[in-house]
Amino acid sequence: MENKLFIYNTLTRKKEEFKPLHAPHVGMYVCGPTVYGDAHLGHARPAITFDILFRYLTHLGYKVRYVRNITDVGHLEHDSDDGEDKIAKKARLEKLEPMEVVQYYTLRYHKAMEKLNVLPPSIEPHASGHIIEQIEFVKKILDAGYAYESEGSVYFDVEKYNKEYHYGKLSGRNIDELLETTRELDGQTEKRRSVDFALWKKAAPEHIMHWSSPWSEGFPGWHLECSAMGTKYLGEKFDIHGGGMDLMFPHHECEIAQSCAALGHDTVNYWMHNNMVTINGQKMGKSLGNFITLDEFFTGSHELLTQSYSPMTIRFFILQAHYRSTVDFSNEALIASEKGLARLMEAYERLQKIQANTTSTVEINDLRNKCEIAMCDDLNTPIVISHLFDASKAINTVHDGKGTLSAADLAELKEVFRLFIEDILGLRTEVESTSNDAYKKAIDLLLNIRMQAKQNKDWATSDKIRNELTALGFTIKDTKDGFEWSL
Ligand code: ZN
Repeated sequence: MENKLFIYNTLTRKKEEFKPLHAPHVGMYVCGPTVYGDAHLGHARPAITFDILFRYLTHLGYKVRYVRNITDVGHLEHDSDDGEDKIAKKARLEKLEPMEVVQYYTLRYHKAMEKLNVLPPSIEPHASGHIIEQIEFVKKILDAGYAYESEGSVYFDVEKYNKEYHYGKLSGRNIDELLETTRELDGQTEKRRSVDFALWKKAAPEHIMHWSSPWSEGFPGWHLECSAMGTKYLGEKFDIHGGGMDLMFPHHECEIAQSCAALGHDTVNYWMHNNMVTINGQKMGKSLGNFITLDEFFTGSHELLTQSYSPMTIRFFILQAHYRSTVDFSNEALIASEKGLARLMEAYERLQKIQANTTSTVEINDLRNKCEIAMCDDLNTPIVISHLFDASKAINTVHDGKGTLSAADLAELKEVFRLFIEDILGLRTEVESTSNDAYKKAIDLLLNIRMQAKQNKDWATSDKIRNELTALGFTIKDTKDGFEWSL
């Protein structure tokens, strides 16, 4: 670990040298998705940002326990204590069991993450699987005197907490202002203050997800799961907690309050937040019609998209911005990223074919160290990418016969490209998306010929097509309407 890693701590609002509590072990918790719909860009950004951190910490030699949760209970429609549970609502609309909704969208989330080459976390706990831990956490907060019971529900007493601690220290919100601005909106009589938030909610008779507790048959408040599961798997004090900036308030602010109230101290040393994604300069939102899921990007099936964009194009696009800057998606910007990625991967491919010479006439300019310095500066992936582009120019010069690389320089360049492109940035070659359609049509064509051959009882042709595609790595399945294939 020659280079010191600096990361921006949202809590202290400073770039700080990363010093783990128990090196070489690092504990890292990231808020995962609420699984009631398909993953969209807003899910891709934190997943990729913290995947980069996970990969880089591992590269630096740390043994990382990465916990990313699945929210499957307690997240209400308005991100507060109001409205229906997002999962329960979907289950009601689709006439499914809530856990069917959870299973379906969790699997689809995993599939999308795999396409984006996001590594799975070490532990992926479900909120619904940790009800006991959450009830225990509520008890601790009640025992410490920072919560109160009201008609079967338990609420966090923000005003009391704020006398001892500082509610708002992460988000910078002013508690007095919050009390002022929220008082008028207050329609609930159960709570003492509208700024108070639910730790446990008594379930209404029609609420389909509920568990027994000392207070009522009910369900935990959304913020509680992360306090309970973070400390369960990473200890009462751990290194990193991450998530999107939109989670800073109320979710993470409440999480800090819960942990301080229950344990007497904050559990997290470094709070990290990725910035948000906009689409054509607008916030994403279902009502704005610009809510594009990852699958729609991959297939180009949303009306705002002029073409499909491969998972690696999406990943590369996100990495071309620093994680604390906003990213604005537009077709123009994505097409530029697609071209940039193709150039970089072409240079990487050319590099494999270059023959070593006795001397180098092109400079490789300490590429490894420059990339490490950029990563150590709060994960500056756009700078890493620009260094790789500079090196690509040298590679292309050699490839065009206008320069040479010595064996040592060539080996170093190959190793640095592999390390940063594959291991750290997590980019991999894929069939170019522009030729993707033609490629799919060609496979369909072959399989249609095979179907015709079968109808004509021309088994030799049908077997040949099947066997040779299988040998190339395709999986072919006969269905009642025809066929399905995947690579
Ligand atoms: Zn969380």
